[in-house]
Amino acid sequence: MILITHFCTQKKIMQRITIAKGDGIGPEIMDATLRIILAAGAKIKVDEIEVGEKVYLAGNTAGIAKEAWDVIRKNKVFLKAPITTPQGGGYKSLNVTTRKFLGLYANVRPCRSYHPFVKTKHPVMDVVIIRENEEDLYAGIEHQQTDEVVQCLKLISRPGCEKIVRYAFEYAKQYGRKKVTCFTKDNIMKQTDGLFHAVFDEIGAEYPELEKEHWIIDIGAAKLADTPEAFDVIVMPNLYGDVLSDVAAQIAGSVGLAGSANIGEECSMFEAIHGSAPRRAGQNMANPSGLLQGAILMLNHLGQTDVAEVVQNAWLKTIEDGIHTYDIYKEGVSKQKVGTREFANAVIANLNKKPTTLAPVSYAGGKALKLPSYKRKPAANKELVGVDLFVHWPGTDANELAKYMSDLSGNDVTLTMITNRGIKVWPDGFKETFCTDHWRCRFKPTSGMLQKNQIVQLLTKAIEKNIDTIKTENLYAFDGKPAYSLGQGQ
Ligand code: NAD
Repeated sequence: MILITHFCTQKKIMQRITIAKGDGIGPEIMDATLRIILAAGAKIKVDEIEVGEKVYLAGNTAGIAKEAWDVIRKNKVFLKAPITTPQGGGYKSLNVTTRKFLGLYANVRPCRSYHPFVKTKHPVMDVVIIRENEEDLYAGIEHQQTDEVVQCLKLISRPGCEKIVRYAFEYAKQYGRKKVTCFTKDNIMKQTDGLFHAVFDEIGAEYPELEKEHWIIDIGAAKLADTPEAFDVIVMPNLYGDVLSDVAAQIAGSVGLAGSANIGEECSMFEAIHGSAPRRAGQNMANPSGLLQGAILMLNHLGQTDVAEVVQNAWLKTIEDGIHTYDIYKEGVSKQKVGTREFANAVIANLNKKPTTLAPVSYAGGKALKLPSYKRKPAANKELVGVDLFVHWPGTDANELAKYMSDLSGNDVTLTMITNRGIKVWPDGFKETFCTDHWRCRFKPTSGMLQKNQIVQLLTKAIEKNIDTIKTENLYAFDGKPAYSLGQGQ
């Protein structure tokens, strides 16, 4: 169906979307948001599903029923209000599950300040954080291995890096941004963060028109908190992005004003970044701006950029008019304290008006970003060059452990190093180094490559000698380049 609306001149096809009103303030802010975007001419048809607290408490630990997944997967675009995760264990985060099941690899969070109408220490701030959304430590693969040590696997993949980095550059290009910054900690994590940085450099080279820079995350985060105007678009792995996107939203003025988009190759989800604020529920108090910002990101994604622009400019005008909900209301700056419904009415009354102090937005010509699918590269020449045996050993003297472990060596395989929490403790360790009961013993072949059956032989001997091996990690070289970390101090 092709429709032409009152406010918008673009020809658009009606889009079916899924919505969930969520918990707490969710239903109120969703009603306000839908009212505004429909008044602006959004060409959407809405299918509502139930997610969240009621579903959890009915015994579904995922917080979402199978039928609801079917609707989300059919419509592909999901606008979600915040939900309450019940207290107590056993409940899975619906957000994390949704991102992973639907392959929503990119989390996009614009953080802009609205000085002088919303209080902020950073009057000039307009940063977009683009966070990898699926991998890193959020793979959630954790194990306890010894009495004293637990581990969480940090998985970073080339497809994951390529998709998110390309998304960041394409986003910057589409929205007329000038610079893309990458944050990693590759001075320490040379393999995982090193891959993210290397892919940033590779893909960045395809965008000569954009400025590019890389910061080590610690000093980059400090700079972002202190001088956000130095940044434009920032792309980073999942954990850093989780933390810094909240910091950026907060220093812009309020986490209550920010929305975010979760984008995948097929599906997408849009939301406010705040929670369900149960104490404010049902009182017509909540600020619907965060979810409205999520809905604006959704309209842009749907290609309804003219509607997105009309809504954003009307919202900016309303903020500029000093019509504020309680959370951002400030005596002397704000003009009128309003409830959720009245705020929505004010935005609707401002449709097709533009702000005069705050810069109006222009999304003209925008469309949903369509990125090429990841293409697997030809396999590298992969050679097995050694193995790390991790052992649970309650002693404290690495020289003693080295004696036991050297017994596993034969003519063809030698113990070359022992580390404890990454730091080399044998040979030539320091007696001052604190050691836990979790030891890594590195074996290398005396010549040539290691054979898999030599690992089996090492493990068999370890069982015979009553050594508690908790895991092994193979050491590989790819195209002749060693692809594993050295011991710290090695
Ligand atoms: P919250 O974001 O709900 O509330 C934090 C503070 O901000 C509260 O003082 C609240 O009153 C205020 N606030 C938040 N949004 C507001 C709005 N739109 N208007 C006015 N004031 C607003 O965080 P919380 O209290 O830590 O969490 C409450 C529940 O929300 C928890 O069950 C949590 O698990 C859940 N949560 C859900 C999501 C989500 O669904 N995406 C995200 C975060 C938290």
